Amino acid sequence: TEFAALDAQIEAAELAEEAALAQPVLAVVGRPNVGKSTLVNRILGRREAVVQDVPGVTRDRVAYDAYWGGRKFTLVDTGGWEPDATGLQAAVAAQAELAMQTADAVLLVIDATVGATATDEAVARVLRRSKKPVLLAANKVDDDRLLADTASLWSLGLGEPHPVSALHGRSSGDLLDAILKALPESPREGGAVTSGPRRVALVGKPNVGKSSLLNKLSGEERSVVDSVAGTTVDPVDSLVELDGETWRFVDTAGLRKRVNFAAGAEYYASLRTKTAIDAAEVAIVLLDASEPISEQDLRVLTMVVEAGRACVLAFNKWDLVDEDRRHAMVRELERGLVRVPWAEKVNISALTGRSVRKLAPALRTALASWDQRVPTGQLNAWLSDLIAATPPPVRGGKQPKVLFATQAGIRPPTLVLFTTGFLEAGYRRFIERKFRERFGFTGSPVRVNVRVRE
Ligand code: GDP
Ligand code: GDP
Repeated sequence: TEFAALDAQIEAAELAEEAALAQPVLAVVGRPNVGKSTLVNRILGRREAVVQDVPGVTRDRVAYDAYWGGRKFTLVDTGGWEPDATGLQAAVAAQAELAMQTADAVLLVIDATVGATATDEAVARVLRRSKKPVLLAANKVDDDRLLADTASLWSLGLGEPHPVSALHGRSSGDLLDAILKALPESPREGGAVTSGPRRVALVGKPNVGKSSLLNKLSGEERSVVDSVAGTTVDPVDSLVELDGETWRFVDTAGLRKRVNFAAGAEYYASLRTKTAIDAAEVAIVLLDASEPISEQDLRVLTMVVEAGRACVLAFNKWDLVDEDRRHAMVRELERGLVRVPWAEKVNISALTGRSVRKLAPALRTALASWDQRVPTGQLNAWLSDLIAATPPPVRGGKQPKVLFATQAGIRPPTLVLFTTGFLEAGYRRFIERKFRERFGFTGSPVRVNVRVRE
């Protein structure tokens, strides 16, 4: 039951973040052969390899990360479908509808050498109803001769036609500037770029061995500095050298001084834990291996996951663990650590120094995962196969469709799935599990958010 409560808490924290995180989306639509793919490649600067189509898997939408003028957005290329001869107009109109639902802005591409066809006009009609910005690109304007003709495309009622040549790159910069103007601001990245030593929080319930471990780490390894006058080191932190690297253990003043609040001790301990976690990039969560996992331990773990920090689980007092205790632990871990199966576990003894040198590699792994980003093209190639094999469960008679996904952020890594319906928590966890199987992310929480476009 306490696990269910924790689950609900974490779920709520994730939902609260959803709206803010995704980068803006531009969808590219238009008839076949007008040059959409060429234009998409031009915009991407061919930074990201075009995904190879796997035979037998229909992939009608591909999303990429695009960068221009220091800003980032997601580019969705809706070009891959095979219209049958009878239904071209309907197919393109449906594509435009979908683009309007999913994207923050839509780019309609027209072949200027052909001019506006009946199909183009049908699409324009659909797009004119959109409350979202629509841009019009008149492609294949390879030289000035066609420029005058593009003016006639004003008649589509989508504003100024932007003449471009996707093939030669002509005026594509101007088009991109117009696109950026039409898109909403990109959200900020989760964690600011850090400089200096990476920040570690050493947390765990009282008497689990935090001060002992800090002393061990600063003693055995060389303690670089501990609030030396004239340095920029915040005196509440400790700089510790582990495995040839300097780390900043944040908010350790309390650990060194051992302040005891007679009244409200637990409240203050919890407050200090929260402060340390917020200040850190990665947390070492200390657990007492000689005792059953307690609710207090889970509270600390929940704080770390909710704060979106990377995490290493250190089972301390391993010197006290005998065979019986080890057996009992197996079941406890299965039950108690369901939320963090991805966290690396190290068995240590702050008393004897056993295996404490394993902490630094575990911290590095966790931070590398926390910083890791899967390119959108790669992500969608993987995701479309996964969803084709295991579609989301039907809810209320409807099958939600996952249109595409982006990794909207790092620190912690955050996926945003664009869907046509709600995805239940179980299915999101399934996606997270498979995502980890494919891409790793050991030691870091991964958020899976859903943006429903209806
Ligand atoms: P899509 O079906 O809309 O994705 O169109 P493609 O990008 O596959 O392009 C269709 C054809 O138009 C290809 O042969 C391209 O080389 C050609 N094309 C694309 N852009 C231009 C352009 O700016 N000028 C010229 N002359 N040809 C282009
Ligand atoms: P804190 O409250 O988390 O800072 O815990 P302390 O570092 O003060 O440790 C609490 C008690 O556990 C002290 O008596 C320590 O000597 C003891 N202790 C800490 N680490 C170990 C360990 O690895 N093995 C054993 N047997 N005792 C430990």
